[in-house]
Amino acid sequence: ERETRLSRYSGPGRTRDGHPVALLANIGTADDAFAAADVDVEGVGLFRTEFLYLDRSTPPSVEEQTETYASVLRAFGTRRVVVRTLDAGADKPLAFAPSGEEENPALGVRGLRLSRRVEALLSDQLTALAAAAKQSEADVWVMAPMVATAEEARWYADRARAAGLDTVGVMIEVPAAALRAGEVLASVDFASIGTNDLAQYTLAADRMLGELAPLLDPWQPAVLDLVAATCAGAGDLGERPVPVGVCGEAAGDPLLALVLVGLGVTSVSMAPAKVPAVRAMLALHDRQRCVEMAAAARAAPDPAGARDAVGELLDPEA
Ligand code: PEP
Ligand code: MG
Repeated sequence: ERETRLSRYSGPGRTRDGHPVALLANIGTADDAFAAADVDVEGVGLFRTEFLYLDRSTPPSVEEQTETYASVLRAFGTRRVVVRTLDAGADKPLAFAPSGEEENPALGVRGLRLSRRVEALLSDQLTALAAAAKQSEADVWVMAPMVATAEEARWYADRARAAGLDTVGVMIEVPAAALRAGEVLASVDFASIGTNDLAQYTLAADRMLGELAPLLDPWQPAVLDLVAATCAGAGDLGERPVPVGVCGEAAGDPLLALVLVGLGVTSVSMAPAKVPAVRAMLALHDRQRCVEMAAAARAAPDPAGARDAVGELLDPEA
């Protein structure tokens, strides 16, 4: 019965009153991409590229990368594909770019920090992405993982643009970047919030430790506050407001997706199987209702209270 209810809705995401909210897929391999391309999604909101680098003794060549990226981009036609450049280091070590022994790998040389230590890795990847973009009609966006400061965002944007990539963004997954979103986003075109790491760093709770799962709940009001801070900073950019998406697990929770939209998020990216339920939930609620839900969630003392408060504002049909 749920299936038939969900199949009433298709196409681009929008609230009941017609505000667009792009529905995008998270993918982690080329095969994921080919499967997602056949699903009713508006594109890819997070293409994790680590699969090309892990478990091998030398980095992938520019040619190999170009071929893989081009095949993925072509599968999506003219749709948007947001590619995240390499997010390795620490717990995802690379044989050819050792980050050394670290006592606190989640706080170590990972993500963009590793790209700055071994610059050739990033420049080859950007070169390959720019070449692949030319071989397809896809709307190619690139973004950096684990950005903490405005200086890092500028450093990355300069290199990506010099490589020939026009739409450049950063992931917001470090609290410092969320709190200073205005400055961090001043040099880029878009932001994508990674709620998995954002929750880990906000609650100081290792995302690999199952025991700490309650602290890592993306409904934590402190995490929602940082999503709000990011949207506020992005909106403060005046003539050039920067769109903010969410690509962490939170985006695939239909109820939480309403809250994110109420906080100002304009795209959500998730496992493709989760898209229909999120689309249907959006279609049943006006944006103003999402804004009320966001306020209710942030006013709650804890994740359970936030869920309950939002549940009370749901459309009876949902
Ligand atoms: C995140 O941190 O929320 C995210 C989307 O990236 P990853 O899970 O790959 O760290
Ligand atoms: Mg992350």
